[in-house]
Amino acid sequence: MTEKLYWRDMYLREFDARVETVDGTRVVLDQTAFNPRGGGLVCDLGSLGGLKVAEVSKEGEEIVHVLDAAPGFGQGAVVHGVLDWDRRHRIMRMHTTAHILSAVVNKETGALITGNQISPGESRVDFNLDNFDRGKMSDYIELANMAVRRELEVRTYFMKREEALANPGFVKLANAMPPSQEMLRIVEIGDVDTQADGGVHVKNTREIGEVVGVKTENKGKSNRRLYFTVK
Ligand SMILES: [Zn+2]
Repeated sequence: MTEKLYWRDMYLREFDARVETVDGTRVVLDQTAFNPRGGGLVCDLGSLGGLKVAEVSKEGEEIVHVLDAAPGFGQGAVVHGVLDWDRRHRIMRMHTTAHILSAVVNKETGALITGNQISPGESRVDFNLDNFDRGKMSDYIELANMAVRRELEVRTYFMKREEALANPGFVKLANAMPPSQEMLRIVEIGDVDTQADGGVHVKNTREIGEVVGVKTENKGKSNRRLYFTVK
């Protein structure tokens, strides 16, 4: 089981860890600050022991770092990891924004959020809505910006699974989590959004800057896709 340093401190840019296994270019550590791909987020990139990290994925309770070449180090070695912080911080800004936008769209239209894809350059939120007024997009973006400008604190904490599931607002992603997980991580963005979530976020919405709507798309009969970025 890899200890998730990014849950303890989402601002950790460098760390040391002990190598548990090496299989070709795949490295598992006892702990890591690299956030793996998952939950709609692309993975962190950076370097490990001086080698480029090309991909990070979660496999069961292990986090696998795929390097761009087979490393010279082996099991038991202590290696230094460095995150591509510009990329990571944009992912954090985008992710917190996606939660805010989802909350705005849900509140304004009653639409259910069906997915999201968070990337450093451009991100998107998918939701289910039969009649979507495209002209409303700028309203939703402005409502999101109003929330961002309130400089809301973002808190993360753990809660017993049954306690979280009893709260209808928290369960959006809870079904995607393994039933064996007794404690769920909760992310709370001021009074705007609270839900079970494993990803990385900013500490305060002031770090987001400005939310910019890019475009909307219809994906099938009632599936809508809203693209956005931050600047
Ligand atoms: Zn999330």
